Amino acid sequence: MWDAEGRRYIDYIGSWGPMILGHGHPAVLEAVSQAVSQGLSFGAPTEREIELAEEIIALLPSVEMVRLVNSGTEASMSAIRLARGATGRSKIVKFEGCYHGHADALLVKAGSGLATFGQATSAGVPAPVVQDTLVLAYNSVEQLEQAFAQHGADIACVIMEPIAGNMNFVRASLPFMQRARQLCSEHGALLIIDEVMTGFRVALGGAQSLYAQQIPGFAPDLTVMGKVIGGGMPLAAFGGRRDVMEHLAPQGGVYQAGTLSGNPVATACGLATLRQIQQPGFHARLGERTQQLVQGLQTAAAEAGLALSVDSEGGLFGFFLLPQLPQNYQQVMQSDGTQFNRLFHGLLERGVYLAPALYEAGFVSAAHTEDDIAQTLEAARAVFRQMAQA
Ligand code: PMP
Repeated sequence: MWDAEGRRYIDYIGSWGPMILGHGHPAVLEAVSQAVSQGLSFGAPTEREIELAEEIIALLPSVEMVRLVNSGTEASMSAIRLARGATGRSKIVKFEGCYHGHADALLVKAGSGLATFGQATSAGVPAPVVQDTLVLAYNSVEQLEQAFAQHGADIACVIMEPIAGNMNFVRASLPFMQRARQLCSEHGALLIIDEVMTGFRVALGGAQSLYAQQIPGFAPDLTVMGKVIGGGMPLAAFGGRRDVMEHLAPQGGVYQAGTLSGNPVATACGLATLRQIQQPGFHARLGERTQQLVQGLQTAAAEAGLALSVDSEGGLFGFFLLPQLPQNYQQVMQSDGTQFNRLFHGLLERGVYLAPALYEAGFVSAAHTEDDIAQTLEAARAVFRQMAQA
């Protein structure tokens, strides 16, 4: 990537996730130009919208019906409305440090103490709008159990990032994911997995495919998707169990619509991207490259005497200036922000573009070469040495 002054960067943000093939993949650009020449928007379903929906359904076994929208925010907001409409309940559970877009009810941080409802994190969100949002600590089975014990009959859904990329990189532990699934089923609440960041990136079948390998019969009721399925165009989706999705208008009573949803140019971009990432070995190669990067970073930090914990899955990675990987937002907050800023700016000066906050995951694309990784690690060695002296 080149900036306005012509400086070159190795880009590990990739538009915050969509650019899994890098910038300007020829097959994607070709599909988009072709689509553009046929018209920009019709406000009616087009063939490609159906093809993309079929592709998503084929890749995610838990998704029996899917609806396309324009952003991850819209997808989460609509999935929550659907969960409330389908269950006839109003309370929702989310976890501190997970981000699901900027719908009012989801812009919430934990209140003080368990089972107090959250406080809005943005001006312009009135308290009554978030009074049904319960915010719990990520990976706390105990808090989940207490929340269901107290409010089980009123909880419409639990929404979570399976790997929380919005607190850098924190995996939902297996017991936590398993218990969330059980509690939702026992109490008639829906489990919504937000795969906007992880979907089609950590594995072809998303993070849910990794949990399904380890938890027999595991499947979410609804999945929220975005980023990679649009390949860089505004496109997102939500989908899941047919009996739940049938509550959506026009069949059901839960309203949802969008002038540009399923846009023919965006679907061309998404389809071309999904076809590329289905080539044999795509995610294995991407995962290896990402591993090279994070292991190299860890070694470079250790050489400079700095503690760095790292993790990655497919083309998603995270690292913390902490001796151990954190499990929740409170632990993520223990990272040294000043040192992180030194790392970020040091790397940026050396042409490596990482997310400018320690709460953000990193993204490797299929366009990153071994040479890019080597250049990144060389820059990192220099910056870690400086940091160790600071
Ligand atoms: N969910 C997750 C997990 C996300 O990471 C994001 C965006 N970073 C969103 C939802 C919101 O998506 P959008 O920015 O497309 O509205």
